[in-house]
Amino acid sequence: MAMSIASIEGKRTLNFIDGAMRPPKSGRYLPSFDPTNGEPWYEAADSDAGDVDEAVAAAKRAFLSPDWRRMTQTQRGKLVAKLADLVGAHAAAIGAMETRDNGKLLKEMVAQVSYTPETFRYFAGMADKIQGDTIPINKLDMFNFTLREPIGVVGIIVPWNSPMYLIAGNCAPNLAIGNTVVLKPSEHTSASALAFAELVIEAGFPKGVVNVVTGYGSGAGDALTRHPDIAKIAFTGGTETGKKVAANAASHLAPCNMELGGKSPHIVFDDADLDRAANGIVAGIFAAAGQSCVAGSRVFVHKRAFDEVVHKVIERGRAVRIGHPTDEDTQLGPLALKAQLDKVQRYVGYAVEDGAKCVLGGRQPQNAALARGWYFEPTLFVNVHNDMRLCRDEIFGPVAGVMAFEDEADLMRQANDTVYGLAAGIWTRDIDRAMRFARDVDAGLVWINCYRTAAYTSPSGGFKSSGYGKHNGFEAIREYTRLKNVMIDYSGVTHDPFVMRMKS
Ligand code: NAD
Repeated sequence: MAMSIASIEGKRTLNFIDGAMRPPKSGRYLPSFDPTNGEPWYEAADSDAGDVDEAVAAAKRAFLSPDWRRMTQTQRGKLVAKLADLVGAHAAAIGAMETRDNGKLLKEMVAQVSYTPETFRYFAGMADKIQGDTIPINKLDMFNFTLREPIGVVGIIVPWNSPMYLIAGNCAPNLAIGNTVVLKPSEHTSASALAFAELVIEAGFPKGVVNVVTGYGSGAGDALTRHPDIAKIAFTGGTETGKKVAANAASHLAPCNMELGGKSPHIVFDDADLDRAANGIVAGIFAAAGQSCVAGSRVFVHKRAFDEVVHKVIERGRAVRIGHPTDEDTQLGPLALKAQLDKVQRYVGYAVEDGAKCVLGGRQPQNAALARGWYFEPTLFVNVHNDMRLCRDEIFGPVAGVMAFEDEADLMRQANDTVYGLAAGIWTRDIDRAMRFARDVDAGLVWINCYRTAAYTSPSGGFKSSGYGKHNGFEAIREYTRLKNVMIDYSGVTHDPFVMRMKS
């Protein structure tokens, strides 16, 4: 892999189409900023519909070409496994580029990228296990079966918060299945997607199987989702963007997999291990500076444990080490975007306006060394109601509101009183209560006595305005294959042509 921080710093990156790096047709480039100092550090191709057309055409050719379509499942699986090895070998360099782009901790980004080879290997192993069924149909002289087939060109759009992790989760099943992809990374994090493209070629995939088009959502993203040759869209991003993407996809009836935002409830009962629970709350909202789709941003604590838990979270929050994301000791880096910092500040203002009381943080760190970066302190509010803007909208920053609840009924009413349904966490030693919560909560992922853990083997995806469809696990294979039914009549009988053969 030639790409690294040194190789692109101060330079321009191109698109990756049909196996080669190509400049954008418009000649335009967009800046990618370093969140620690607000300075642009390279420019990425600002692609438009012309570039997307070229990429989709290349992916379509590749899908139909015998090099890919007639490749055996075992060969395809081996290619995906080879890709796993290559991504693993370059995890440190890819993680470093992601940190420079999105400001998340180097140790977190390297750990995320280092985990992705397992995702590729999991789906590599699945390549020769994608199979249909034989289904009896009460006709003794007929044979009936299903074929699970690749669907074609899949458009993949990912956000900036965990780029390579989401690229792996979306690309691995599609490559194992035999689809081809056009990937559009966030305009804020183009580098890792292009590094990945280099590895795709090194692994030996035929050209056009993976294409990367960088650019803004309103340009390249919009064109990709409108393109009539896209068979399915895998979208990860904000809920409002998701609605636009789904509307574009509807224009050509392309189905979507929607991984959208959240406002996840994080619950502590008074019988829980309160130290572990407080630690979990910190992990849920202050880790990654709260820029996590599953952030536990609405914290509900039983009234008997409220003061103690708030106190413990404040203590831990005050001790969080804010600093440069590449420093080993840093626990909280900057927010990824200036717009994200502005949004966090706006919502802190709304919370105060709506009558909430800030008991931790609420401002940028008073540290001259961090003044140029987009840093924000871990922030906690009490005197909060679930109908405040603080609790209604996804903020995507290190900001949570803590609310007290009376009993399970009161808790369930408040926890489910949101348009979102992505994740939920509960801390309790009462397994019956935990199971009742897991059953009744509107969330695609429920954590009991843990928070913010993930597994490529397990299906994930939200409900309500958090999206639909699943990624990871065998569900991902179902998402990106189509099911064909084939019936064979071996009776040799000529049937009445005017009567549909329903019964035997
Ligand atoms: P975003 O919606 O602004 O952008 C996501 C992607 O969509 C980017 O690549 C962007 O360029 C593209 N895009 C923007 N407008 C578009 C349009 N009109 N047409 C097509 N594409 C368009 O989100 P973001 O700020 O990059 O990421 C944060 C959001 O992502 C949060 O809401 C977070 O919850 C969500 N997210 C969800 C998951 C999940 O698995 N559910 C995972 C990570 C992030």
